[in-house]
Amino acid sequence: MGERFTGSGRCIIKAGYRGYKKSDPLNQGDEMVKEIITDRPNKIHAETIVVGGGVVGCAIAYELASRGQDVLLVERSAIAGGTSCAAAGMLAADSEDFAHPLMAKLARQSRQLLHEQQVLMTTLSEVETGLQRHGFLTPFRSYSELSSYKDNRRSALSADEVWWDRYAVQQEASWLNRDTYGAYYRPYESEVLPVHLTKAYAESAQAMGARVMEGIKDIRVQANEYGVQGITTSTGEMTCKHVVIAAGLQSEDLMRHMNLSLPVWSVKGEIAAVQFSAEHAGYRPDRTVYAEDIYIVPKANGEVWLGATSLSGRTDLNVSVQGVQKLLTAATHWVPGMKEAQFLRAWAGVRPATPDGLPYIGACESVPGLFAAFGHYRNGILLSAITGRLIAELLVGKSSEELGIEALSPERLNRKGVVH
Ligand SMILES: Cc1cc2nc3c(=O)[nH]c(=O)nc-3n(C[C@H](O)[C@H](O)[C@H](O)COP(=O)(O)OP(=O)(O)OC[C@H]3O[C@@H](n4cnc5c(N)ncnc54)[C@H](O)[C@@H]3O)c2cc1C
Repeated sequence: MGERFTGSGRCIIKAGYRGYKKSDPLNQGDEMVKEIITDRPNKIHAETIVVGGGVVGCAIAYELASRGQDVLLVERSAIAGGTSCAAAGMLAADSEDFAHPLMAKLARQSRQLLHEQQVLMTTLSEVETGLQRHGFLTPFRSYSELSSYKDNRRSALSADEVWWDRYAVQQEASWLNRDTYGAYYRPYESEVLPVHLTKAYAESAQAMGARVMEGIKDIRVQANEYGVQGITTSTGEMTCKHVVIAAGLQSEDLMRHMNLSLPVWSVKGEIAAVQFSAEHAGYRPDRTVYAEDIYIVPKANGEVWLGATSLSGRTDLNVSVQGVQKLLTAATHWVPGMKEAQFLRAWAGVRPATPDGLPYIGACESVPGLFAAFGHYRNGILLSAITGRLIAELLVGKSSEELGIEALSPERLNRKGVVH
């Protein structure tokens, strides 16, 4: 049983939770929470306060709680209400083309860690994350398309991937366009339901003693010449030794109040969801298609998600006809039977990008006790587990150099003169 606080100043002790269950395939995670309401304690103190209840903040709280550390997560609205609820949930460690070799390495470590965490998380939280380890296919229309893919790719190809020629594609993925020239099959790729993963992290962290407060507004970090002292909020002050900013897109604002310039750029993306009837089940992909122009992700809840558009500088959550049209055109090319599927809905989210494409993960040198964990752009679900682990290691005194993550140092852009 974990504690949860709300911005209304009440402490809620959660006595029961029901998240997504495998036996309930269309259930998107309804909660049946029996709440015992008590008075909120006057003074709140925690060793570490994590600001932001997206997948990154929740993974950090999970990792800290699993180490027996005293952690409080504060969220301005609700857990998994930000970008994390819009993601496709792919753990595309081998398929994604990372500009920096460090990111490719961390991505593989994170995917492995996420797989390892599943059993404990499901036991602690009773939330099924919808993890599916079916592997991904990257298909090509022609030899020249394959050649330019190889020429342009920055990440080294993984030793685990298998080339399927036209014949193998037809044998192994009969639902894929029969004119496909060939495809890379990456057997270790997997995917999750992102909201469920985020809630599983939060619920498991609570089960291990973490506190989670939702609806906490107007958060400001308080620091003096000795470093972080705590935070002020709409519901009062909270003291702590460390603050970890994991507020996704809004992290830049929180940092600006500390006179730190850590830019976060918005890149909007749209996704559509479809579903195949039993009659057309044979057309449904049984593996994720990770093509150059689209990804098609068969989800554990029975839906198939098609994503995503990429619109730099856009922060609105509108879904355009043009965006959906683009997704459906590409999806029906690769999976012609998709035309028989039922269109369910579409949504948009905004990815938190950084100027150099790397997340900010590390200690802020100019404010002792302040840590950054944001800017994960299009891979925050994938990188959540390793981010939690790295932050936990930093909090016990390991340096970025020891962890090999100097390239992610929050103040790197200031040092390079990119920002002032
Ligand atoms: C269309 C789309 C598809 C994607 N697909 C994938 C994918 O397949 N795989 C993958 O790995 N990634 C994917 N991503 C990227 C992924 O969604 C993000 O990288 C990830 O969700 C970022 O998580 P976060 O916790 O940093 O941010 P968020 O999920 O935005 O969480 C930040 C939280 O902080 C809270 N907050 C903000 N300000 C404050 C404040 N002042 N005080 C308190 N709380 C605050 C917010 O309310 C929010 O809950 C996708 C993104 C999009 C948009």
